[in-house]
Amino acid sequence: RGLVKHFNVRLGAFGERGATVHALDGITFDVFEGETLSLVGESGCGKSTAGTTVLRLQTPTAGEILYGGRDLAKLSEKELRPLRADLQIVFQDPYSTLNPRMTVGEELAAPILHHGHATRKTVAKVVEQLLADVGLPARFASRYPHELSGGQRQRVVIARALGCRPRFIVCDEAISALDVSVQAQIINLLQDLQEKYGLTYLFIAHDLAVVRHISTRVAVMYLGRFAELAPSEDLFRMPLHPYTRALLSAVPEADPVVERSRKRQILEGDVPSPLDPPPGCRFHTRCPMAQEICRSAVPEWREVRPNHHVACHFAGPDPAPGLPS
Ligand code: SF4
Ligand code: MG
Repeated sequence: RGLVKHFNVRLGAFGERGATVHALDGITFDVFEGETLSLVGESGCGKSTAGTTVLRLQTPTAGEILYGGRDLAKLSEKELRPLRADLQIVFQDPYSTLNPRMTVGEELAAPILHHGHATRKTVAKVVEQLLADVGLPARFASRYPHELSGGQRQRVVIARALGCRPRFIVCDEAISALDVSVQAQIINLLQDLQEKYGLTYLFIAHDLAVVRHISTRVAVMYLGRFAELAPSEDLFRMPLHPYTRALLSAVPEADPVVERSRKRQILEGDVPSPLDPPPGCRFHTRCPMAQEICRSAVPEWREVRPNHHVACHFAGPDPAPGLPS
C-alpha cells in the first residue's frame, strides 16, 4: 500500500551533490493467492525494486507490505526470519546466484537443512524429489554449475527456491537470459509447479509477449508508478494507457495478416531519469496524446472498467478514438 522506495546517491566528480533516485513512487496493488501478477515496463521503471521491496529484501521509504495480516515493512530482520522461507526470489542470471564450488546436491540441500525440512540422513531423498520436480535426473546432484546449460541452471535455482516450501515467488526476469525455446520450457515448468504446490508468482519481465500466457493479471510500470493494471486478456485486447499501447505495438502478432495491417507506434526517446522524473504525468515527455494538463497534474489511478485500472487523464472505458492503435 503506497509503496515508496527512494535511494540517496552522491553525484559529481567528488560526490559533492546529493540526489534522490525515485525508484518507486507510491504504488498500491494486491497479489492474490494462486495468481500470477506480471510487472512489465522498460528497464529502469522500478520493476525489480518493486519485487525486492515487497519481499523486504530492502526496506521501503514509505508504505505497507501486508502479508498474512502483518506489515512486513515494520518487522525487524529477526521477526522476518520465520517468514523468509515463504517468500522466495528467482533472478535473471542463475550463474551468479549458484556457488561455483558447490555441487547441485549441496546447493539444494543447504536451504532444506536450514529450514529443518529434512535431516542429514534424509536430505538426499528430498534433493532427488526436487530435481524430479524441475525435470532434472537424480544424477545431476553430483554436477557443478559450469557443467550445466543456462536452462538447467535456472531449473536448479527454481528447485532451490522450492526446497524452502515457499508460498510466494518473485521471478525477476527469470527467463530473460534464456533462448526462446528454453524460455517456453521454463514457463511451462513454472506453471506446472504453481498448480502442484499452489504457488503465487510476481513475474517481472520486459517482454510483453512472454507474460500474456503466464499472467492472471498484468501491471504496466513507468518511472516508479503504475500506468495500467488489468486481467491479462483485457490488457492485451483493450489496452487503455498510451504507454501500454506503445509497448504492445512493439510485440509482433502471430497472425501474419493481422501483423501486416497493423500500424506501428514507435516510442520516441528514452525513459527520463528517475533522478528527476517529469512533473504531472511522468509519461508526458513521450506521450503522443499529451495535453497541457499532463505537464502539471498527476493523473489519478482510476478503475475505468471492472478490475481494469489506469492512470491517464483521458483514458475511458473504451479505447479513445484518437488513441493510436
Ligand atoms: Fe499521455 Fe496525458 Fe494520459 Fe499521461 S495523462 S498518458 S501524458 S494523455
Ligand atoms: Mg530489473
